[in-house]
Amino acid sequence: MTTLTQPSTTGLAVDFYDPTGTRYGFPTYPYLDAPAGLATRRQLRAAGLRPGGHDPVAQILWRHRRQQRVAYLYRLDLAAPERVATPAQRKAIAKALRARRTCRSCGLVQPYYIPRRTGACLDCIPGGAQ
Ligand SMILES: [Zn+2]
Repeated sequence: MTTLTQPSTTGLAVDFYDPTGTRYGFPTYPYLDAPAGLATRRQLRAAGLRPGGHDPVAQILWRHRRQQRVAYLYRLDLAAPERVATPAQRKAIAKALRARRTCRSCGLVQPYYIPRRTGACLDCIPGGAQ
């Protein structure tokens, strides 16, 4: 029924199947065969999550061009939302951006960033950007 073809490297997946960590000292799963409830950092990020301070609980091992690769797995139930700016932080950012558009000479807020060299808008110093 399924048309998915398995890699013909039989035994490779078994090599990396060590859920109890007896061989690798850390719970280990083959590529594409990680248990549900675990995700890589990349997968967490795609879901708008981050590890949230907890250490990986397992690893995925696979071979890529004769090199052994590893990706660490984190528990989804311990993942936290990605950090978003608090209202106070957003306010501070907005204030900083506004300050960059405020002319130090005439005090007007311009729709563009004031050239750092002069600190004055183009009305005060025409061609100030040079
Ligand atoms: Zn000005």
